[in-house]
Amino acid sequence: MEDQTLHLDMIVSKIQNSLKRTCYRPWEAAVAPFCVAPKVYYVGGNDWVACYLIDTGEGLILIDAAMQEIMYLVTESVRLLGYDPLDIKKILISHAHLDHCGGVRALSEYTGAEIYMSREDWDFMQNHREVVFHKPFAVGDFTPDKFYEKDCPVTLGKITVETLHTPGHTPGTTSFFFTVADDKGTKYRCAMPGGLGLNSLSNQYLDKIGLPRTLQKSFCESLRKLKEIEVDITLPSHPDILEQFFELADRKTCNFQLYVNKTVWTQLMDSHIRMMEQLLGRPV
Ligand SMILES: [Zn+2]
Repeated sequence: MEDQTLHLDMIVSKIQNSLKRTCYRPWEAAVAPFCVAPKVYYVGGNDWVACYLIDTGEGLILIDAAMQEIMYLVTESVRLLGYDPLDIKKILISHAHLDHCGGVRALSEYTGAEIYMSREDWDFMQNHREVVFHKPFAVGDFTPDKFYEKDCPVTLGKITVETLHTPGHTPGTTSFFFTVADDKGTKYRCAMPGGLGLNSLSNQYLDKIGLPRTLQKSFCESLRKLKEIEVDITLPSHPDILEQFFELADRKTCNFQLYVNKTVWTQLMDSHIRMMEQLLGRPV
């Protein structure tokens, strides 16, 4: 019970900080969908945790499934863009925390979409169920249809999503990379880091949950590995990790150019390396 309370406190405080509100009800903060890259859209429906929709030409891929309480905002976002939620064929989960996978059961039952996640976070979920499944939030239990395979990216239609195991935030946190092209054929490399929150990396948290402190080292290694990758468009898993993410949205003409910036990705990794140094009180 203590573990549950600890994790819940962290989630609640993160939501409060993010929303600058005194309650934790992200499903009340409706955000209309918008374009972040060619045929790629923010469909989180709320301003706290992201979901991204990719139109592959042969069906839709959804990255992350938010909380179950937010599901109606996600499906409505998909409809507002002119798509049918029933065309979602694959749901890719970044990591096994309820704000990213809480809605996946409801959504997969509704759409019939296949659920993908990492084998490492599947094990984490089975061995630490109190971290993922707890009240007051509803989290439907689920079994993934497929695990990410190192040399086997997820392909649907014209889009191939490469997955990279980037442990730290959870043991199986997975980051996503894919390339899209605009009408003129210009290509853009898009990426979403699977989980950058330091909330699950303190000694206190890891000891309470019963996870090894070596995850701190893994996280630093993941950040360095990610930093080496060239990315044109950074898709934050929580919008608040990027300044002005919502302000740059163009909902009228779908102009995504303001999101094209190679330095955003490397700066994001650098800032988290510095935050880890602060957390650990030493260079990493
Ligand atoms: Zn998380």
